[in-house]
Amino acid sequence: MESRYNPAAIEEKWQKTWVEQGIDKTEENQDKPKFYALSMFPYPSGSLHMGHVRNYVITDVIARLKRMQGYRVLHPMGWDAFGLPAENAAIKNNIPPAKWTQRNIAQMRDQLKRLGLSIDWDKELATCSPDYYKWTQWIFLQFLQAGLAYQKEAAVNWDPVDQTVLANEQVDSEGRSWRSGAKVEKKLLKQWFLKITDYAEELLQDLDQLTGWPERVKLMQANWIGKSTGAYLEFPIVGSSEKIGVFTTRPDTVYGVTYVVLAPEHPLTRQVTTPDRKAAVEAFIQEVAAESELERTAEDKPKRGIPTGGMAINPFTGAEIPIWIADYVLYEYGTGAVMGVPAHDTRDFQFAQGNNLPIQVVIVPPNNDVETLRVTPLQEAYTEPGIMVNSGSFDGTDSVKGKQAVIEYAEKQGWGKARIQYRLRDWLISRQRYWGAPIPVVHCPNCGIVPVPEADLPVRLPEDIEFTGRGGSPLAQLSSWVNVPCPTCGTPAKRETDTMDTFIDSSWYFLRFPDATNDKLVFDSARVNDWMPVDQYVGGIEHAILHLLYSRFFTKVLRDRPKGGTEGDRNLLNFDEPFQRLLTQGMVQGLTYMNPNKADKDKWVPTSIVNADDPRDPQTGEPLKLVYATMSKSKGNGVAPEEVIAKYGVDTARMFILFKAPPEKDLEWDEADVQGQFRFLNRVWQLVTEFAQQPTVKETSIKNPKSKIEKDLRRAIHTAIQAITEDLEGDYQFNTAVSELMKLSNALADATCKDSPVYAEGIKTLILLLAPFAPHIADELWHAIANQESVHKQSWLKADPDALVADEMTLVIQINGKTRGTIQVPAQADRQMQEKLARESEPAQRYVEGKEIKKVIVVPGKLVNFAIG
Ligand SMILES: [Zn+2]
Repeated sequence: MESRYNPAAIEEKWQKTWVEQGIDKTEENQDKPKFYALSMFPYPSGSLHMGHVRNYVITDVIARLKRMQGYRVLHPMGWDAFGLPAENAAIKNNIPPAKWTQRNIAQMRDQLKRLGLSIDWDKELATCSPDYYKWTQWIFLQFLQAGLAYQKEAAVNWDPVDQTVLANEQVDSEGRSWRSGAKVEKKLLKQWFLKITDYAEELLQDLDQLTGWPERVKLMQANWIGKSTGAYLEFPIVGSSEKIGVFTTRPDTVYGVTYVVLAPEHPLTRQVTTPDRKAAVEAFIQEVAAESELERTAEDKPKRGIPTGGMAINPFTGAEIPIWIADYVLYEYGTGAVMGVPAHDTRDFQFAQGNNLPIQVVIVPPNNDVETLRVTPLQEAYTEPGIMVNSGSFDGTDSVKGKQAVIEYAEKQGWGKARIQYRLRDWLISRQRYWGAPIPVVHCPNCGIVPVPEADLPVRLPEDIEFTGRGGSPLAQLSSWVNVPCPTCGTPAKRETDTMDTFIDSSWYFLRFPDATNDKLVFDSARVNDWMPVDQYVGGIEHAILHLLYSRFFTKVLRDRPKGGTEGDRNLLNFDEPFQRLLTQGMVQGLTYMNPNKADKDKWVPTSIVNADDPRDPQTGEPLKLVYATMSKSKGNGVAPEEVIAKYGVDTARMFILFKAPPEKDLEWDEADVQGQFRFLNRVWQLVTEFAQQPTVKETSIKNPKSKIEKDLRRAIHTAIQAITEDLEGDYQFNTAVSELMKLSNALADATCKDSPVYAEGIKTLILLLAPFAPHIADELWHAIANQESVHKQSWLKADPDALVADEMTLVIQINGKTRGTIQVPAQADRQMQEKLARESEPAQRYVEGKEIKKVIVVPGKLVNFAIG
């Protein structure tokens, strides 16, 4: 063994040894409890960044700990490998997406292996490989058979640069594409949807089962699902048999409805428009069509609308009210129409004021002078509950109770009914792109939509494709691929050319890992039911809504039994939720140059173009500020993992990441702290090396040491075991666990009983406790103290309760509430004895000296206070 700590040499050696010994392979021993540790799998961009490293190191520590604690652990890794960047690279550099992706995967796999992660690479999967997407397609067909996948024409977000449809969440707050930055347009297209709305209620209710999830993630999901309880009411159109249906959570305000508003794209819009309003209405429809959904609904934006000339009847009052159209009403939400109650809704109040629409008060605060309110104009909407007025037979009713009463009345009259509505909408999964799983259906002129038979899966992506980046999907342009006979009747038919949203690939990958190489089935049910749910899932907060919600949805659909056995081969899972515990790790921040005089994205200046001695904006010459900001390519503030590893070794990088911040908090990259951890590992190296060279004591089991020195050291050792175990098992407080390791190493360094078996126990303990954090140095040192088997095959330690009991305790001596010193007293001393010893103590004697003790307060085990006069 070398006397100097040389991470490069030992890390490479151990990584090789672990592979040879199969240390990271998934154990299938059923006598052991299972533990499934999973990091959110990466997109193979080609290079690992510090955010990845943090994510995977966190999961790795947990996986290593659980193995030592006697679990069989599944800790796999894969690649979320479909998506736009590969296709964009193909267009730009003329490399086939498959080749580009495989090259990136190979590169990132090497980088991952360098991190010493205990990943079972036999389980590796890539969503873009045919043996994976075959099953993605198979799952799609189960959805189709269950009536959970359907086609419908819909206004979609159209990216005119990438020539593709975008999901709402791929459009930023300025209505621009998340990738190309192009202004998104609206376009009508026939699209595939998954019926996630069928599961809205269960997805909401089951959030309660997720006790191991951060509250804020559950709240974000609940808000996304957006359940509201209220009424569906219908307003007859004057001069027509049609009615305008609206949803409201405030049926108690229906007597205050003074207008109704349709979404401009609502099919009734053109029907209700009067001839004199036609030109204006058409112009407005065109204008709104160019706006994104986010622009239309932005809180801070004034709401725009115009009258159609048409009138409706408020069935409750019999009054004729105008029909308007406005940009803030979206056809995809609810019924695509809303009732206007300006007196009791803030948005309606502003809209009515801006457009001179009547405002009718129908709810007044309790205990208020009704007459005054009737005559005084409202200054703002009154949105609180109160007493119903101007509401026919409901006058005087409490408005909360009035909601139900109005619904019952409406039902009796045939004007409406109770309804629950969700904000969640069906999931648009069609992409007019090449690099995704083809949707496995054929369009036949005789049979309609025909699923590709299971035996013909996968529908492979053709490879002889030309990427021009124009004119929509490359698949649609390849007639040899598109034209096929109908699988049912043999008539010339056409393949579906849309591919699936990549979020589908990641909605079930965690189910594939337990049985990753199965070529007969999507997975073996028994195997998956054994390993699932994932016990610990680790990933970024940016996936709090979509990925996690979709994964929960897929799990529930694959769990459900097909009705009457006609809905495909589901009923595959015996659990409701895929992820037991979720940890959303914080970001990694780097020191970043910023020009405080510039706004938003323009303010960041990449470190590489700044003169560190006199940091100025190269464009303007203005002085720059140095702040912490999330590492990113665009800010040019990243720290490359491979550079840190080359300089200090991966064990140091891991220790720093774990020590610098609790896992859910942002982490500020600080070179000085990295060096601090490097020095710590050097000290551990030194301690163990010196110990190993000692020829004497190797006995490490001594329950009852005689000397106080040994007893104190043994207490420090077992305190470390207990504290670190608690830190790791509770909320994964790795930072405090590393502090405890440092404390133990200090106690060993300071020990004056280095020839005692207790010291030997301490050295052994330090190495074992270090193993999940810094796996390479731990295995090297473990072998250095004459062990043959890997440290990662050892059992985690349990604290000896006897060793934790202190012989003495510290009492604080106070005089008139002021601390004057401390004394050591026997741990078993009772209250009286504590007071006696405190009185006799040097600080008490000194300060009391002849004065009268008026009162003594004893807080046993903590302090004794003397009140003196
Ligand atoms: Zn056919």
